[in-house]
Amino acid sequence: MPTYDAIVLGVGGMGSAACFELARRGRRVLGLEQYPLGHARGSSHGHTRIIRTAYYEHPNYVPLLRRAFERWYELEQLTGRHLLTECACLNVGPADGELVNGVRAAAREHRLAVEELDAAGIARRTPFRFPSGYAGVMEQRAGFLYVEECVRAHIDSAVSLGADIRGDEPVRAWKAVGGGVDVTTDRGTYHAAKLVVTAGAWATRLLADLGVELTVMRQVQHWFDAGEHAARFRRDAFPVFIADVPGGPFYGFPMIDRFGVKVARHYGAPELPTPDGVAWDATPADAVPVRAFLDAHLPGLVGPPTKAQVCMYTLTPDRHFVIDTHPLHPQVAVACGFSGHGFKFAPVVGEVLADLADTGATRWPIEMFRATRFGA
Ligand SMILES: Cc1cc2nc3c(=O)[nH]c(=O)nc-3n(C[C@H](O)[C@H](O)[C@H](O)COP(=O)(O)OP(=O)(O)OC[C@H]3O[C@@H](n4cnc5c(N)ncnc54)[C@H](O)[C@@H]3O)c2cc1C
Repeated sequence: MPTYDAIVLGVGGMGSAACFELARRGRRVLGLEQYPLGHARGSSHGHTRIIRTAYYEHPNYVPLLRRAFERWYELEQLTGRHLLTECACLNVGPADGELVNGVRAAAREHRLAVEELDAAGIARRTPFRFPSGYAGVMEQRAGFLYVEECVRAHIDSAVSLGADIRGDEPVRAWKAVGGGVDVTTDRGTYHAAKLVVTAGAWATRLLADLGVELTVMRQVQHWFDAGEHAARFRRDAFPVFIADVPGGPFYGFPMIDRFGVKVARHYGAPELPTPDGVAWDATPADAVPVRAFLDAHLPGLVGPPTKAQVCMYTLTPDRHFVIDTHPLHPQVAVACGFSGHGFKFAPVVGEVLADLADTGATRWPIEMFRATRFGA
């Protein structure tokens, strides 16, 4: 039976990073992906992902974010590819709301440079319009990642270091055998000392024994033509943004190509038990809430939609990640439930997973991401 130091189950955003990190440490790695490598049926496609530092979700993410920036830049050096573009991030919402207060708390705790703006200040600096009573917190240590390029860079780098990464080879079953694992696909059974499960939305099924109630949420990314106003949405003039408004939150990106400005709603759709119920075609109805947001808050962006793409979130009950050793199998490391905000962390998650596979421990603060926090 072919034998490896580690098998990575699922080679998307996190799995590609884990393959790279394990290969970098000299491990014999097999990466198994059910679809063609770089596919658009999971959670890591749609051209761009926001990266930011003053993290409203929780200040504990900040050390991981600092590391993520370093590791993305390192991957750029290694591959010679451009993966991360810096631009400002505007967080905007009710002045005493969860979003702006969360950004302020992370900035305070980690001494991050942020700039406070009122609604009039936002209107002076950007094409946005918000009523008085809204506040903005702008940070410069932010930008966006080219998501497919990032996945590809991790895969190619892992392969160049000797990793065996196979697309179109779904894992049908795995089982703990002695201190290791046997992993079965249609092409055979492989043995490894360690298994890393990075199965995205399919973790709902593959990690059903984890004790975490994972759900899947369909999300649609929309692009809008900026027409004659393109200059106002250039990345030197327009930030990535998160706007906490009724019907939202919404987020978006500067215009970086002919498709225009990308805007989407964060959450706001039914929670599904597995990826099976996700409709992969976007419909005109999907654009309605986003159009209403633009009409209310970005009146300069009146052009028609140019493109839409469906993607999936995998949610935990508290919207924080799961990164841990499997509670029942110490030879299995898991990373799932990234709850719609995980991509920016991929290289650090890869590092943590390689640590867990190597030694069962990591120097990175992952207490908050333990699978056992839900009490199962
Ligand atoms: C629309 C949208 C916008 C987002 N915006 C942001 C953002 O701005 N910033 C940010 O940081 N994050 C963002 N996220 C979240 C981020 O993209 C995800 O958290 C991240 O991509 C999840 O990566 P993953 O590796 O867990 O999942 P995936 O990339 O989906 O990888 C899982 C892989 O496992 C494979 N797999 C599953 N089962 C099997 C099996 N049995 N055998 C073999 N392979 C299998 C799947 O095919 C898939 O390729 C966004 C997500 C979406 C959907």
